[in-house]
Amino acid sequence: MPQYDFDLFTIGAGSGGVRASRVSAGYGARVAVAEEARLGGTCVNVGCIPKKLFSYAAHFREDFHDAAGFGWSLPEPSFDWPTLLANKDREIARLNGIYGRLLANAGATLIEHRATLVDAHTVECGGRRYTAEHILVATGSWPVLPEIPGRELAITSNEAFHLERLPTSIIIVGGGYIAVEFASIFNGLGVDTTLVYRGPRLLRSFDAELGTRLAAEMLAKGVKIRFEADIAALTRDPSGALAASFRDGSAGTAGAVMFATGRLPNTRGIGLEAAGVQLTRDGAILVNDYLQSSVPSIHALGDVTHRNNLTPVATAEGMALAKTLFRSTPTRIDYQNIPTAVFSIPNVATVGLSEQEARQRHRRIDIYKTGFRALKHTLTGNEEKTFMKLVVNAENERVLGAHMIGPDAGEVIQGIAIALKCGATKPQFDATIGIHPTAAEEFVTLREKST
Ligand code: NDP
Repeated sequence: MPQYDFDLFTIGAGSGGVRASRVSAGYGARVAVAEEARLGGTCVNVGCIPKKLFSYAAHFREDFHDAAGFGWSLPEPSFDWPTLLANKDREIARLNGIYGRLLANAGATLIEHRATLVDAHTVECGGRRYTAEHILVATGSWPVLPEIPGRELAITSNEAFHLERLPTSIIIVGGGYIAVEFASIFNGLGVDTTLVYRGPRLLRSFDAELGTRLAAEMLAKGVKIRFEADIAALTRDPSGALAASFRDGSAGTAGAVMFATGRLPNTRGIGLEAAGVQLTRDGAILVNDYLQSSVPSIHALGDVTHRNNLTPVATAEGMALAKTLFRSTPTRIDYQNIPTAVFSIPNVATVGLSEQEARQRHRRIDIYKTGFRALKHTLTGNEEKTFMKLVVNAENERVLGAHMIGPDAGEVIQGIAIALKCGATKPQFDATIGIHPTAAEEFVTLREKST
C-alpha cells in the first residue's frame, strides 16, 4: 500500500471542491485543497451570490414605482453604484471567510496557490510536490467570447461585478442565463440596455413559451432586444464609446459591451494531459457515473465536467464523491428533474421536461397553463404577468414538467421539484389544497387542458 501525503488533494475551492473536501475530511480523510484565487469559486465571487444581490438592487426600481399604488409617496429615488459594490464586496468577503473556516474546522489543509497535476498521484503547488491517493479536479469554468475583432474591448460577467462606473448604455450579447439576468440587472439600475441574440427566442434550452414570454416582459420593462443579430466587430470611437458592427451591416454604440456567450471548463495548463486524463471535445473532463476520470485516481465534478453547470449539482456531486471515496458507499447522482431558475426580471424557473421535449418522448401529452396579473399588481398598475405551465403524460397522469415566470419563481418551483422527484401525478397535484391567496396555488388548481 503506497503512502501518500494526503488521502484527497482537491484542486479548486469552489462550491463543489469545498463540499467534497470538507465532507471527506469529516469522514476522516486527510484532505488538502489548493486555490489560487478567493475561496468559493464562481458562485460566491462572480456568480450566483453577487448576481442575486444585483438583481435585488435592480428590482427596487419597480418596487418604488409599485409602492405608489399602495399609497406610498417617495422623493425621486436615486441609485448609487459604489454603495452597492461596496456592500456586495463586504458580503462576499464574509462568505470567503466562512468557506475558509468550513475547511479549517473540518481539518482540511488549505494551500493558497495554483496547483498542477504531475502524474496520477502527484500535484505541484506553491513550489512543492504533494502526493495523494485521490486527486479531485474542481477547477470550474470561464466565460468564452466569440473570436471577433475588438473582443478585448468587451467585458464578461467577471468584470460586470467590478465596474468602476455604471455605463449609461450597454449592449449584452447572448440569450442564455447570464445574458437575460444581466440585461434585467442593468436595465433595472437605469442603464439603457440592448440585448442582442443570434437566434429567434431567448432561453433556447427551456420550454419555448418561457423564452417568448420572458422577452415580452423584458421589452415591457424597457430592455431593447435584437433577435437574429450578431456582432461582427468592436471598435472604440473617439468619444470613448464602443462601436459595434453587426453582421447584417447595421451598427450600434454603447458605453459597454458585455458577452454572455457561454462558459467553458478550466482544463488548460493544469497538467491533465501529462496525467493522461481524457477530455471531451469541449475540453471538459470525461467522468463516469462516480465522477472518476479515465485515470482511476483522478476525479472531477462541477463545471469542469461541463454537464449541468449549476452550483447545487456541483455540491451534490461533492457529497456523492466523498461518500464514494471515504464511506465505502458508491454514490451516483440522479440528474433527472434538476430544477433551475433564471434570475431575470421577472424570474423564470423550471423543472422537468419542456413541452417540446415531452412531445418527443411521450405519445400523448396534456398541457395545463395559466397567465394572470398577480394580486399585488391589481393596485400597482404594473402590467407584469405571472405564467405557469404543467406538462403531463396523458397516459399515466404523471407530471413531467413545471414551468413558471413570475416573482420568486425559483422559490415556487423548488417545492414543485420535490413532487416531481416523487413521481407526482396530476390528480395528486389536484388533491393538494392551495394556499390562498398566493400565485403558487395556481399549480394545484389548473383544471382546463390547453388546446
Ligand atoms: P448559456 O449557455 O446559458 O447561454 C449562452 C448564450 O450565448 C446562448 O444564448 C448562445 O446562443 C449564445 N452564444 C453562444 N456562442 C455564441 C456566439 N459565438 N455568438 C453569439 N452568441 C453566442 O451560457 P451563459 O454564459 O449564459 O451561462 C453559462 C452557464 O452558467 C449556464 O448555461 C448555466 O449552466 C450557468 N448559469 C446558471 C445560472 C443560474 O442557475 N441562475 C446563472 C448563470 C449561469 P444559442 O442559444 O444560439 O446557442
